[in-house]
Amino acid sequence: MEFRKVIGGAVFGMTAFAATLASAQEVNVYSLRQEFLVAPLFEKFTEQTGVKVNVIFAEKGLVERIKQEGANSPADILMTVDISRIQQAVDAGVTDSVSNGVIDANIPAHLRDPEGHWFALTQRGRAIYASKDRVAEGEIASYEDLADPKWEGKICTRSGTHDYNIALFASMIAVHGEEKAKTWLEGLKNNLARKPQGNDRGQVKAIKEGECDLAIGNTYYFGKMLDDEEQRTWAESVNIVFPNQNDRGMSMNISGMSLIKSAPNRDNAVKLMEFLTGDVAQQIYAEVNYEYPVKPGVEWAENVKSWGTFKADELPLAEIARLSPDAIKMVDQIGYNE
Ligand code: FE
Repeated sequence: MEFRKVIGGAVFGMTAFAATLASAQEVNVYSLRQEFLVAPLFEKFTEQTGVKVNVIFAEKGLVERIKQEGANSPADILMTVDISRIQQAVDAGVTDSVSNGVIDANIPAHLRDPEGHWFALTQRGRAIYASKDRVAEGEIASYEDLADPKWEGKICTRSGTHDYNIALFASMIAVHGEEKAKTWLEGLKNNLARKPQGNDRGQVKAIKEGECDLAIGNTYYFGKMLDDEEQRTWAESVNIVFPNQNDRGMSMNISGMSLIKSAPNRDNAVKLMEFLTGDVAQQIYAEVNYEYPVKPGVEWAENVKSWGTFKADELPLAEIARLSPDAIKMVDQIGYNE
């Protein structure tokens, strides 16, 4: 599951990796994001600064690992995805506050922690996917519409407790308050075509196969499905709908980074954080996964542009993190997954 690697250099064993931790020309990143997403960024950074980036990749468990390593952890930066997972790292006490003019100027305030414990690096929308054949354009326009009884038996989603859905449900609590949000979620549950299951792409597949007409899914999966020979037909069977364009905009989530409290290479870490929020890195990072840059004015990838522009909800992600536990409770209370 886990491996370690030095981008642009030799592969280190654990001992060598640990032994290099105080070197002035290195920075150590623990990444919960896959190698193909971040490797191009680190190569550019090393090219520009001469600072080598050592990376440990894993699908999970990195926060626990940093905790176990304690003050001796070689970790300087944690890169991860989804606001609730980012918040978990902060709650675990492994992150530190960064106050830096360059980073703050690059990242809009709603996409970073007011305390400086995390910063967004890319964003993705929680879109609605609608059958081209069975849903007329404009027939579904908002998240609120998903609870309309006219869609009874027509909607597919993944588990209600998945982080992606929790963030969306938390945003509904932020906008409507707990009581109304709960009524909405009950309405959505009543419209489900089947028990929540699978991943975002699986819901689009279900539309293609006629099991449902609408699904909720992250924007970048549209690009990923179009890239995949088998999944292309799934994507081609739907329109991607950007919700709530007449009011608050599409609900957004992020991938992000945090400085680790015990960072042995703090200066290089901050240098890397500045770089990751700059124009060059922003364009590369967003492009490799069909995401949206967080720095205003950075150009989108061509195919991402072709899906159209949209208004993004600027609800602070910190607010979504704060309301996530309430959203989880709400999902349980109404038995969304049952
Ligand atoms: Fe995803």
